[in-house]
Amino acid sequence: DTIGRNLDRTIAAHGDREALVDMVSGRRWTYAALGADVDELARALMASGVRKGDRVGIWAVNCPEWVLVQYATARVGAVMVTINPAYRAHELEFVLKQAGICLLVASLAHRTSDYRALIDQVRADCPELGAVHYIGDPSWDELRTAASAVTPEQLAAREAELSCDDPINIQYTSGTTGFPKGATLSHHNILNNGYFVGEAVAYTERDRICLPVPFYHCFGMVMGNLGATSHGACVVIPGPSFEPAAVLAAVQQERCTSLYGVPTMFIAELDLPDFAAYDLSSLRTGIMAGSPCPVEVMKRVVAEMHMREVSICYGMTETSPVSTQTRRDDDLERRTGTVGRVLPHIEIKVVDPVTGVTLPRGATGELRTRGYSVMLGYWDQPDRTAEVIDAGRWMHTGDLAVMREDGYVHIVGRIKDMIIRGGENVYPREIEEFLYGHPKVADVQVVGVPDERYGEEVAACVIPRDPADPPTLEEITAHCRERLAHYKIPRRLRILDSFPLTVSGKVRKVELRESFVG
Ligand code: ATP
Ligand code: MG
Repeated sequence: DTIGRNLDRTIAAHGDREALVDMVSGRRWTYAALGADVDELARALMASGVRKGDRVGIWAVNCPEWVLVQYATARVGAVMVTINPAYRAHELEFVLKQAGICLLVASLAHRTSDYRALIDQVRADCPELGAVHYIGDPSWDELRTAASAVTPEQLAAREAELSCDDPINIQYTSGTTGFPKGATLSHHNILNNGYFVGEAVAYTERDRICLPVPFYHCFGMVMGNLGATSHGACVVIPGPSFEPAAVLAAVQQERCTSLYGVPTMFIAELDLPDFAAYDLSSLRTGIMAGSPCPVEVMKRVVAEMHMREVSICYGMTETSPVSTQTRRDDDLERRTGTVGRVLPHIEIKVVDPVTGVTLPRGATGELRTRGYSVMLGYWDQPDRTAEVIDAGRWMHTGDLAVMREDGYVHIVGRIKDMIIRGGENVYPREIEEFLYGHPKVADVQVVGVPDERYGEEVAACVIPRDPADPPTLEEITAHCRERLAHYKIPRRLRILDSFPLTVSGKVRKVELRESFVG
């Protein structure tokens, strides 16, 4: 169904239960209160001239208004375009123009205080851009007061025109491997996905989900917000951006039952000097996703954060996002060693990336997926859409995977990240997992760097546990020599304090690779 009608059902069933908590301001909404604020904002958007299919941009760090905009745009059938909070003028201009945004909601929170100047800078080059409303500014209140010009009946009439297959959201991919692409998603795409992800971790109206992951990406807005509202659960916003101590404090104070994060967030939380001082006993589950989830980190999350039922998801923006997920009753081996099995109503297969022939279980190949979750296409880029969605509606993920005999999937890495050293295929992930076991290694990334002799050479980038005592290349090679084939052993090492990340917390291997060149 549409997102608006689904929200109505949750309000009817759980109106007096808490829906949203903002730790920074202390504001709280029940489902009934959330519904009232969403309706007001939806009528305000209509009063501002937003028609069905118009693009409304949201450029903000996590805050409650973000959630209101998500549901209000869905109610009026506008296409919400989520804009990465880290974008600067040039990237902002690209998205405003590419998506043809006519109304923009932007934040003036502490870390985004220069948004007004950036918008003014690009405005003249974005003729389609009309009103801009700033959260935390009189222009936001002005927008809301406009609601009185549209009646609830007019809003209901608008909602009656909407179909669950209408585009409702444009989300740009993380840009991990290149320039972001605008995945266009329907109500059906993302609501179903949020619902089934929530089913896999058995959400009910008693769950309270702590969300430090950015809303502008599927992880926050689909697996988080839609996963919660489709089950009547509550979303707790620990802060505008990721602060490990604030996250654990929110879990403790709000007795959260579920916590989300990319692996690097969980690492930062576990490594807090006063980690043991937080009471995390309310946690039972959570989701780790977005990039490879190291087995050691998963084990610590289960043992030290009480997240016995923590779930790993695999997916991509283009598939709304989740394709495979571990389930509530999976044992530790499946929970830590795989990305789970396919979600209901989705198909997956592993194929030879060149011939497209389906491979037997146990073989490494490209993962392809088909079903309700596959995006409508890249916004206004039919050629790029045709490169990734074939005539049979299979989405080519560009990821290498193995499907085990039991149907559980192991992600080997991205086709683009595979290192070819002297004709041998090397999968960085395997070496990274192995190096996590070295006592001096806190975090590690393995990349292929150009090499005259072998074409590519294996290089390790290490964040040491103790900055004063980093591992040497000799120590790394000695550690690998006993267990890894010679061609997989890193021949180059770089010690770093941190990795270059996308704002969703993903490591930009491209940048690490470039750092070895020249
Ligand atoms: P771009 O497509 O712009 O280069 P991106 O692929 O990182 O960026 P997303 O759609 O955010 O953009 O990320 C999807 C990718 O993240 C997947 O294709 C996969 O490579 C990786 N990924 C997601 N979940 C997992 C996981 N659990 N384990 C390993 N890799 C994962
Ligand atoms: Mg991608």
